[in-house]
Amino acid sequence: MTFAFPPGELALVVPMAPGDDGRRRGAPRAQFSWFRPTDSAALADLCTDANGRRHGLSIPPPLIRSELIVDLRAQASAMLPPQLLTAVTAGRPLAQPIFDLESRSLVFGRALLLGDAAFVARPHVGTGVTKAALDAQCLADALRSTDGDLDGALHRYDHERLAFGRRLVARGRYLGEWLSAFHEPGRNGARNARARDPLVVMRELGAAGEMPRVASAGVRESSLR
Ligand SMILES: Cc1cc2nc3c(=O)[nH]c(=O)nc-3n(C[C@H](O)[C@H](O)[C@H](O)COP(=O)(O)OP(=O)(O)OC[C@H]3O[C@@H](n4cnc5c(N)ncnc54)[C@H](O)[C@@H]3O)c2cc1C
Repeated sequence: MTFAFPPGELALVVPMAPGDDGRRRGAPRAQFSWFRPTDSAALADLCTDANGRRHGLSIPPPLIRSELIVDLRAQASAMLPPQLLTAVTAGRPLAQPIFDLESRSLVFGRALLLGDAAFVARPHVGTGVTKAALDAQCLADALRSTDGDLDGALHRYDHERLAFGRRLVARGRYLGEWLSAFHEPGRNGARNARARDPLVVMRELGAAGEMPRVASAGVRESSLR
């Protein structure tokens, strides 16, 4: 992984398995993300197309206004190292606001939630696809093992996946909070204690499978030391 830390921001490249899409078979691939704090006015502007139409909280990539892309590339030139700059200049950007979602229950009578419908953790955990698959696996296992007791199976699914989803959301918040903390001064103008050192952030992001010790009311403590 390659990291850059513009003040209060994070850009990173994660290597991916070589492509297997026809012409470019075997070509090296990587995923690039640039995490940037914003506010509701800037987000609304970003999600407004060239005809002035507002698209809410996201916008289809082809409709991002060209002047915003020019501005983004200029900022990238000023803020990112050359190794990461190509990722911004070579491709079309996709803008994605970050939210997290936490359900209080996953089962409602004979209806249930799984995958993103149940929990959405911040992307720092890089686990949304795996979590959705594990939700489905847990449901299948519960249905198979309860010998026709549907309510028992759903109860087991609810119990197991609620706990997992909560931990994942808490870990996403923990990993992401240093970005916002950077912009919130600590007491008496000192550095905010939650604005962790980039070295720590890199270690924590790289250990994707690690889960923090989570207090039920939130998380302040990482298992990574
Ligand atoms: C930009 C971006 C990057 C991401 N990168 C990663 C990553 O690197 N690694 C990772 O693990 N996760 C990543 N995720 C998260 C991951 O994509 C999701 O967590 C995962 O797709 C959730 O799976 P799901 O089946 O719950 O929902 P989805 O994949 O969203 O599937 C829901 C499906 O339901 C369909 N649908 C919606 N409404 C209806 C309706 N009314 N009727 C019928 N169908 C409907 C949708 O079209 C969609 O096909 C990323 C997400 C985004 C947006």
